[in-house]
Amino acid sequence: MKFELTYYPCSVCGSEQYKLLYKVKGFDIVQCKDCDFVFVNPRIKNSDLYKIYSENYFTNTGEGYGYQDYELTSHLRLKTFQKWIDGIEPYLAKDKGPVLDIGCAAGHFLELMREKGWDVEAIELDKKMIEKVKAKNIKVFERPFEEFTSGKKYKLITMFDVLEHIPDLKTTFKKLHELLDDDGIIALITPDFSSTQRKLFGKKWFQYKPQEHIQYFSPGTLAKAIEPYGLILVHSSPSGQYADTGFLLDRLDRYNFKLMKTVATTAAALFGLKNKYWYLDTGSLFAVIKKK
Ligand SMILES: [Zn+2]
Repeated sequence: MKFELTYYPCSVCGSEQYKLLYKVKGFDIVQCKDCDFVFVNPRIKNSDLYKIYSENYFTNTGEGYGYQDYELTSHLRLKTFQKWIDGIEPYLAKDKGPVLDIGCAAGHFLELMREKGWDVEAIELDKKMIEKVKAKNIKVFERPFEEFTSGKKYKLITMFDVLEHIPDLKTTFKKLHELLDDDGIIALITPDFSSTQRKLFGKKWFQYKPQEHIQYFSPGTLAKAIEPYGLILVHSSPSGQYADTGFLLDRLDRYNFKLMKTVATTAAALFGLKNKYWYLDTGSLFAVIKKK
């Protein structure tokens, strides 16, 4: 797909003053001179952006965005979600109630929460994933979050690897505040611009996917961005995911560590590491947000 590009002001403070940090895959990664927020500019037009996510986003092979096959590693995704739930639980309201997962993919996280007695709902745009979620008897809204409406107040709203994709942050934060119960929390995972991994890899950081990852937060810019909407950041820490040998080799390849990849491939074959997995830091940020 070929998309038209458009310039936008900073999504956090509205400033049009920014400086170029890097060029990645033909896109400019820029930093706001007023609030330090990092974003892609120009970027795919807001009205076209959501087209990326409706067809084959999770089974994508040639477009340069999306996942190659999300469900191939679903056993590792379940382990990852369980670990994230362990991080969320200390902040959860005592009384169980409605949970909304924005960008739920196959619905693994919501299945785990339903087992724990929570009342689960989802938002998803990918048609194949929507069918999977419906087959699990999970109520799913098939439009972007900016268009979501509900009479409910949620005890937990989650956005795992979602915030970096959202064009209209103002509407998003306003709506999050409206939908959140007074003792509810928002838990999210997003690439962390202040992470060691980003500093180490510079423009080669794997989280730079400028067609779809258009917003790059750090704990500092996230706290600033949500404050005008009556929200506060109550926790932030580095985050990652469970990954197997194949994932690790793919990363070494992407970072162009040719020798390391050869050594690792040989080691994997020698020591039978094919089905082993580890929890890897992905240069992401785990954040918990509450109402002020
Ligand atoms: Zn700004």
